[in-house]
Amino acid sequence: MQTAPSMVGLFAVASLAAWMLSLPGPARAADAAAPGATRIAQWKDDKKAAFLLMFDDNMPSHVKNVIPELKKRNFTGTFYVNPGKKPFWTAVWEKDIPAAGVVLANHTMHHTGAKDLAGLEEEIKLCSEAINKVTPNCKEPRLLSFGTPGVNKDMWQFSKEQINALLAKYNLIDRGPFLGAVIHYKTGKEMAAVVDKAIAAGSAGYIVFHGVGGEWISIPLPDFIELLDHLVATQDQVWVTDHSSAHKYATERAGAEARVVEANDKQIKLSLTSKADAQLYDLPLTLVTQVPAGWQKCQVVQGTKKTVVTATNGAVKFEALPGAEPITLQPE
Ligand SMILES: [Zn+2]
Repeated sequence: MQTAPSMVGLFAVASLAAWMLSLPGPARAADAAAPGATRIAQWKDDKKAAFLLMFDDNMPSHVKNVIPELKKRNFTGTFYVNPGKKPFWTAVWEKDIPAAGVVLANHTMHHTGAKDLAGLEEEIKLCSEAINKVTPNCKEPRLLSFGTPGVNKDMWQFSKEQINALLAKYNLIDRGPFLGAVIHYKTGKEMAAVVDKAIAAGSAGYIVFHGVGGEWISIPLPDFIELLDHLVATQDQVWVTDHSSAHKYATERAGAEARVVEANDKQIKLSLTSKADAQLYDLPLTLVTQVPAGWQKCQVVQGTKKTVVTATNGAVKFEALPGAEPITLQPE
């Protein structure tokens, strides 16, 4: 008999829900339609998915083709650079590119791997230092993304534990397995399908690029543009961001809790906490809060930050920093 245990399970869930609804105060936020009830959005701006464009080896085609096309569409990308690799690391990577709103990430100093652990540490440390030097306005310490360089096997004889310990020491986060244009996705259509898959799964999708219309493992520029145009067409559903920001958002959200401190016709007061380390995980989360029927516009205050938002279907959407001051909403 398969039905009997599941009926018992259903009954247990139903009685638990009834018990939760009978609780006074903050726990009533479980009632999703009550004023004050707050949902932490899956991704920034309540988008369904995140998408990360990653570019390896600081190539001339990134400067010539990629960055202008990203800029045209107001997109960012994560650039895994080797500041010690001549002649590819040019002055433009030290000034214009960091200023262009894209994010630099660690791909080791020389892309050579290392013979021993001390050598690998040096490769990782020097790359982070070079990135910090050309992005002086970014706060320290901060999280940088890390992409493992493809090198000869004898120059990468390190265990997962050894690499993870080094990444943790230098506040680096691994971007995950290599999934690349040309190698895994050969056309603009195949790359656009990765975006659709992320939307369907509510996840963070990504593609790693090498050359774009030039140099090695190169995808033709029209295919790359087809992907970017698909991201424009789906941008009400997809947050195009860099790896570190997506990682921060997901980590903060996983350990976050929004509590209703007070909710009446004049004011809603919320607290937002997260288990993530606030020094490194400093990205605001997007909250969606139910407001009383008469509230069309509403002022949201957290500390010194003040915004005015408009209600849609009885709810407002706004950004708030976890672990900071309480958040107050009042009708305008
Ligand atoms: Zn590489």
